Amino acid sequence: MDEITALAKRRGFIFPSSEIYGGISGAWDYGPLGVELKRNVREAWWRDIVALRDDVVGVETAILMSPEVWRASGHLEHFFDLMVDCRSCKKRFRADQVTGPRCPACGNPTLTEPRSFNMMFKTYIGAMEDATSVAYLRPETAQGIFTDFKLVYQTARRKPPFGIAQIGKAFRNEITPGNFIFRSREFEQMELEYFVRPQPREEGRRWFDYWVEERYAWFLRLGIQSERLRRRAYSGDELAHYSQATTDIEYDFPFGWAELEGIAHRGTFDLEQHVRGSGKDLSFFDEETKEKYLPAVIEPSLGVDRACLVFLLDAYEREADRTVLHLHPRLAPIKVAVFPLVRNKPEIVELAVTVERGLRPHVRTAFDDSGNVGKRYYRQDEVGTPLCVTVDYDSLTNQDVTVRDRDTKQQVRVSIDRLPSYVRDRLDQA
Ligand code: ATP
Repeated sequence: MDEITALAKRRGFIFPSSEIYGGISGAWDYGPLGVELKRNVREAWWRDIVALRDDVVGVETAILMSPEVWRASGHLEHFFDLMVDCRSCKKRFRADQVTGPRCPACGNPTLTEPRSFNMMFKTYIGAMEDATSVAYLRPETAQGIFTDFKLVYQTARRKPPFGIAQIGKAFRNEITPGNFIFRSREFEQMELEYFVRPQPREEGRRWFDYWVEERYAWFLRLGIQSERLRRRAYSGDELAHYSQATTDIEYDFPFGWAELEGIAHRGTFDLEQHVRGSGKDLSFFDEETKEKYLPAVIEPSLGVDRACLVFLLDAYEREADRTVLHLHPRLAPIKVAVFPLVRNKPEIVELAVTVERGLRPHVRTAFDDSGNVGKRYYRQDEVGTPLCVTVDYDSLTNQDVTVRDRDTKQQVRVSIDRLPSYVRDRLDQA
């Protein structure tokens, strides 16, 4: 974890927020390479969950919502963690992280009783700071989907089974943020609410199983090593009272197995709560069968930042002579780096610039003419660039270039006019 955190900072993936002021706990900034990685992660999810399917539509709802939403959803009443403080060393822990009467940090038996603590960030809307103007930063993106459910199915003319997907920021005042970007206070979620008929119950169960498998396979398709990924079904007493089934997809983090994504069969709980809270009828009316019902929902929920962390950790390898990120080409921040073999031969530099400009409309590129070619390969391997292209003396006469593969280090000659289609084929094949 320390190595990934250091690499992420050194190469411009991820930095602590407001670092020049000593940082702020639980918030992170994405640098030039990190922002590309993060966009690619979102894009991979959106493409597979929304764009390539005909049963899912997307939305982007506001972070600020009526406080009534959080009363109805149960967040005002139930979204809290239990914390304990140590009277000696003043450290604070989540109650579920403490076993026994002693402080995990200093070892003294000076822990307070657990106290509950609502994890929603509170703010005020408008000029008056009083009870009537209280609002909350959303702790999950899902509620915007539930409140808009009717507007979406009517305007998009969908009927169950169908899903509504959203990517956006969420905020939780976590007691113990940490493990780099694994747990932060400001983060981003990618959530799908997939609405199904509540009866027969097997239908919901089938869709739940489908989404568990689909989401598990998604990580494998994007190159995650299968021995570091597992599905863990919740036992009866772990389930939230409204949940009919929950399975976490867990990853073998450096600090142990932990949740990467959760898939929950939430039944009709959420829509029922909003019917009660708003007094509005949110049921679905099927014109064909004349049936009216409140759909049940299956929810796969994944943190963008947590996914970025897993893709980085899983891709990271230190070999004898280099550090390499074996990122899937869809996720790599830079797809192709172009080098002129030497800097002092204008024809070569010019041709390399032309080659790089030719690739730009197709894929994310970089140009590097500093140091020797070995150093440039090293720098690109370390940030996961799948292909490096070198323009050399022979390129001037033969109009071809050397393409070198990140993982195998193999090199092939490719003619310049075929290069864009060659690159696209290579990246698509992965
Ligand atoms: P935990 O038990 O770890 O606090 P949770 O079960 O409350 O997590 P969910 O509410 O199921 O988490 O959130 C869905 C997903 O959102 C998680 O699987 C994770 O990927 C992401 N996520 C949740 N909280 C955070 C956080 N504080 N920082 C980063 N990602 C988070």
